[in-house]
Amino acid sequence: TFDVLVVGGGPAGAAAAIYAARKGIRTGLAAERFGGQVLDTMSIENFVSVDYTEGPKLGAALEQHVRNYDVDIMNLQRAEKLIPASDGTGGLVELQLANGATLKSKTVVLSTGARWRQMGVPGEDLYRNKGVAYCPHCDGPLFKGKRVAVIGGGNSGVEAAIDLAGIVSHVTLIEFDSKLRADDVLQRKLRSLPNVDIVVSALGTEVLGDGQRVTALVYRDRISDEMHTLELEGIFVQIGLLPNTEWLKGTLELSPRGEIVIDERGQTSLPGVFAAGDATTVPYKQIVIAMGAGSTAALSAFDHLIRRPLP
Ligand code: FAD
Repeated sequence: TFDVLVVGGGPAGAAAAIYAARKGIRTGLAAERFGGQVLDTMSIENFVSVDYTEGPKLGAALEQHVRNYDVDIMNLQRAEKLIPASDGTGGLVELQLANGATLKSKTVVLSTGARWRQMGVPGEDLYRNKGVAYCPHCDGPLFKGKRVAVIGGGNSGVEAAIDLAGIVSHVTLIEFDSKLRADDVLQRKLRSLPNVDIVVSALGTEVLGDGQRVTALVYRDRISDEMHTLELEGIFVQIGLLPNTEWLKGTLELSPRGEIVIDERGQTSLPGVFAAGDATTVPYKQIVIAMGAGSTAALSAFDHLIRRPLP
């Protein structure tokens, strides 16, 4: 039995495990892939106090830091079901893993992160981190003075286009539908910018490159069926961030987007269950934010433990 069981080994889970272990309580961490999204990142320039690092290096450092403590790490383990504490579970939260094992803990920190929805077109995977990007806060400055496209005319796409327009030379926003779905105030702001073009009723069909970097985006005009090739250096895909919470549906409160609803202490709708990072309703999905949230959730779990009635 654990005092704190962390699910997920990205920045949020690693921070939660370190903060819990430093309280001298029994801490476990189960993760499908230790390191999380960080492993898929090339350059990281906004990890405060570190000028520059690379994803795999930060992922390895996260794991090393957790291993310095007495944390029972169960890597390559996928959680499939959370069973809330009840009389039937002896007041313990249970976590069922895909390998058939059941873990029991007094408190749980959920930090299963999220994944960016992809366009699913040829060239997208090949040029990921080589011009194809998903995070404007992270990678926007890498495209300073260059031409980019933003795929998606919802709030996140339009926010990204406004943000990027201040950094890059030119932005083309590509929307599948016949109109943008973003809030009016954002659309007005976007249309006021001199270096932004908006293309609606368009479907991105291929990412072209020279073997090293992205050189163009091919899209189809859905009305005329004409194909267009847009020469550019970067493509920001903004068609949704999907929280890895499908397995929690019906167990605790999720937002309409599937994010775990938390309060400012990281408390979920279930007693003893906390959550942190990209899987939650936290605004802005970033490494430093996930780490802060993981620390908060672990401290809240500790607070919950010291208030638990004695058996
Ligand atoms: P994640 O990193 O997503 O980790 C989730 C963890 O949970 C993983 O270990 C995963 O294997 C595990 N998991 C998922 N489901 C289950 C399950 N059912 N059972 C067990 N384990 C599970 N942020 C920045 O601040 N700066 C950047 O430069 C930057 N660049 C980025 C570039 C790319 C390409 C991407 C994709 C993201 C980037 N980000 C960047 C965002 C940053 O990576 C995330 O905000 C951060 O990793 C979120 O941390 P997390 O711990 O909440 O989730």
